[in-house]
Amino acid sequence: MSASRRRFLRRTSMAVAGLALGRPPRVAAAPSLDLVVRGGTVLDGTGAPAFRADVGLVGDRIAALGEIAPEQARRVIDASGLHVAPGFIDIHTHSDPDVLAYPTADSRTRQGVTTELAGNCGSSAAPLAGLGVAERVEEWKRDGIAADWTDLASYLARVEAAGLSPNHALLVGHGTLRSNAVGDVDRPLTAEESRAVARSLEEALDQGAFGLSTGLEYVPGRYTPTAEIVELARLVARRGGLYASHIRNEEARLLEAVAEAIEVGRQSGARVEIAHLKAAGDSNWPKQGAALDLLESARKDGVAVLADAYPYTAYSTTLTTFMEGWAREGGTEAILARFRDPEARARIRREVEAQVRTDPGSWDRVVVSRVKTEGNRPVAVGKSLVEIAGGWGLDPADAYLRLLEEEETAVSFVGHGMSAENVERVLRHPLVMIGSDGSSMAPVGEAAKARPHPRSYGTFPRVLGYYARERGLFDLPTAVHKMTGLPADQIGLADRGRIARGKKADLVVLDASRVRDTATFDDPHRYPEGIVHVLVNGVPVVERGAHTGARPGRALRRA
Ligand SMILES: [Zn+2]
Repeated sequence: MSASRRRFLRRTSMAVAGLALGRPPRVAAAPSLDLVVRGGTVLDGTGAPAFRADVGLVGDRIAALGEIAPEQARRVIDASGLHVAPGFIDIHTHSDPDVLAYPTADSRTRQGVTTELAGNCGSSAAPLAGLGVAERVEEWKRDGIAADWTDLASYLARVEAAGLSPNHALLVGHGTLRSNAVGDVDRPLTAEESRAVARSLEEALDQGAFGLSTGLEYVPGRYTPTAEIVELARLVARRGGLYASHIRNEEARLLEAVAEAIEVGRQSGARVEIAHLKAAGDSNWPKQGAALDLLESARKDGVAVLADAYPYTAYSTTLTTFMEGWAREGGTEAILARFRDPEARARIRREVEAQVRTDPGSWDRVVVSRVKTEGNRPVAVGKSLVEIAGGWGLDPADAYLRLLEEEETAVSFVGHGMSAENVERVLRHPLVMIGSDGSSMAPVGEAAKARPHPRSYGTFPRVLGYYARERGLFDLPTAVHKMTGLPADQIGLADRGRIARGKKADLVVLDASRVRDTATFDDPHRYPEGIVHVLVNGVPVVERGAHTGARPGRALRRA
């Protein structure tokens, strides 16, 4: 080794984590780094241009950035010809509590997702207390999850005990809190009931929730007046948390619904995230531009609002969503009783038909993704309501009612309701982050029997491959910023989402020329290509495109 090479090594190792600062340099020192990702081009998550650097780790942290000799680390990952990015932060997931059934979270880690923020759209796995506990426990038992937690703290402890591959953070669901307290009632809360909900929100925030989510198109979110939400969002703002909203309408009243979310931010002072921003149904497509304009003008007024979006022209939700509020009040038994009442049944049928005509436009664009009973799987999963109705010799609207009855309302579907132009317009906008709206799963067990939206497997590689490289919506640093630094700031994750000394060592090594999604609507359980290595807290969970089985993820709590 030359003298200058030795000097370089000493200099670098002194800089590394300050290990040798103030002490004489060691001679023939043992490697000071645990691992180095060498030879790659770094996208640091800020949106800045890529630069050549090796990334050195000590334990779960990034300790050095620059030129690092292989001798300095106990382990070397070769990233020559590849890009190194912060691990992707999926700000919009529904992995609580699914990830307990799939702790290696293959659908997420294989994409490069290292942190999931779950508990979105008004519904969170915790707290599990008050009314309706038995029904939820029963539902999760079918997925192989023994729900034995009560509050947020015991849920996060359960996550830690299970050991996950990615990190897991939680929003607390407003619908969950309200249902726990009073059930799915279609009325404003009394002052006393409001205080009970507020107390349970404060408890969840103090136990580490990153904020509050609402699902204002769902039950009981749709029964909740704006003023009730503002009061809760104030408690969130006081603790520096996030208010994330599945807004009240994504169709004819999209603009009013966006304005409501902004108003909650303005009155409460909370940071706002508008979930899966979209205009659903052909007749509403022209509203998309105006919705983005509302975000821009709110930012100019000082409201810290951003939106998230996934890169597909279809959404996915529960089949009861087509029903009006009155028909969904009171839970499953109450809904099934209305189906048995001829007058109520006729009204529901009429209203659902009108709704489907608006969004997604027709019954053939409603494709069932998941049912509960074994018997209906071959009949319904992966089929449109037109196909299901054909098999049963019924009208689609009657097939809709029969399916919900037989499945006790537990049916999910994919709705093909958005335009490709709008998806691009939304993704490209600087106030939009990438969020999958998907879940942790793997092509085994219950998940394999369903045909879920491909977003759970393909979102991030699809943005990098199809939208950045092929369609040229934005450059690579911008694409990565939308899935790392930008969501980290909005969630309040100070130590993740960037490649810099001192940050947590969540990393993705990817092949920018090759990265692409392969999951499709017909065949969704497919892993992407070009995601080469993924590290969570300094530990490789994906190596050369294969899951290592490691589960170094942590339950994250708001500081
Ligand atoms: Zn949602």
